[in-house]
Amino acid sequence: MPSTKAYASKSATSPLAPHTINRRDPGLHDVQIEILYCGICHSDLHTARNEWGNTTYPCVPGHEIVGKVTAVGDHVKKFRVGDHAGVGCLVDSCRECDNCRDGLEQYCSNGMVGTYNGMEKDGSGYTYGGYSKSITVHEDFVLHISDKLPLDGAAPLLCAGITTFSPLRHWKVGKGTKVGVLGLGGLGHMGVKLAVAMGAEVTMLSHTASKEKDANRLGAHKFVLTSDTEQVNAVKGYFDFILDTVSADHDYNFYLGLLHTSGVMVCVGAPSSPAVVPAFNLIFGRKSIAGSLIGGLPETQEMLDFCAAHNIVSDIEVIAIKDINESYERMLKGDVRYRFVIDMATL
Ligand code: NAP
Ligand code: ZN
Ligand code: ZN
Repeated sequence: MPSTKAYASKSATSPLAPHTINRRDPGLHDVQIEILYCGICHSDLHTARNEWGNTTYPCVPGHEIVGKVTAVGDHVKKFRVGDHAGVGCLVDSCRECDNCRDGLEQYCSNGMVGTYNGMEKDGSGYTYGGYSKSITVHEDFVLHISDKLPLDGAAPLLCAGITTFSPLRHWKVGKGTKVGVLGLGGLGHMGVKLAVAMGAEVTMLSHTASKEKDANRLGAHKFVLTSDTEQVNAVKGYFDFILDTVSADHDYNFYLGLLHTSGVMVCVGAPSSPAVVPAFNLIFGRKSIAGSLIGGLPETQEMLDFCAAHNIVSDIEVIAIKDINESYERMLKGDVRYRFVIDMATL
């Protein structure tokens, strides 16, 4: 069992600190990956601080993992030593239920295994994520990363990319769709790039005035400052589709008012408090509020290939792992343009 350097939080209130974990030796179907970069998702922070109330400690976050294959099991068909490879938010599922057979492993009826803070299917222990030097994963849950994509900028595609790509595809966003992307952070900036690449008309809905220039640079056609009444009134009843990526508690009703008749607001942001939505705000205008969880393995590969074809990667700030706690604080303040990525050589 190779021991591996990592960073872990030991409780909801303790900072992340160096820690050693054990990874399994590669089994017949396993791919062992040397982790070169790992993105920092707001879910890492929610989990490290037990904001969703389900964290087991020690917790090694990180589910935007890219690196190089260092060993493969004898039965592995899809990967060779030296390949670029990625691991996203899940590392196992039952593979037998309807959802797994449909490539929707994230909705596995028997429970998918998260890349961190998940219980292994054989009950052998909790999973540890990508804030570490290496990871060993069944080949079915490993993705190919095109050599065309820079590895550091590609890391956030494994969560921020697929989490925004999947609902855009499911609700058939394309040419002629008026899309509002709510919140310009890690997910939001990928949502803008992907919706623009799909041909939609994209408006950035942000509570930070200073992000307007960036929103335009990322491809957004319009920018609405959500604290500016005049700007908000101009888009009342306007959108076919709103992708809500906000991590903090906020009033869903305010944004439902921006939907056109039959419009859909999809929540991917996961604030910790429950939201109150009066039925009337949905009844008038036949509006829907929906949710979406990351994406399945086939769709994640489709997204990575789409990004390679369209030259899409994340806008990143590369950090050393010793700066992880400061990065969390900056993420909370919205001070990230637009994803922190850890250079694992610094571990
Ligand atoms: P992030 O980089 O921190 O971005 C969140 C953005 O939300 C901020 O940049 C900010 O954008 C906006 N925001 C923050 N506080 C706000 C407030 N008080 N009021 C209004 N807007 C606020 O986070 P992220 O990594 O993109 O993750 C976003 C959320 O998605 C998190 O809750 C995360 O756990 C969740 N998530 C869900 C899935 C899924 O499968 N559904 C997958 C990954 C992550 P502006 O400054 O532009 O307003
Ligand atoms: Zn994530
Ligand atoms: Zn299943």
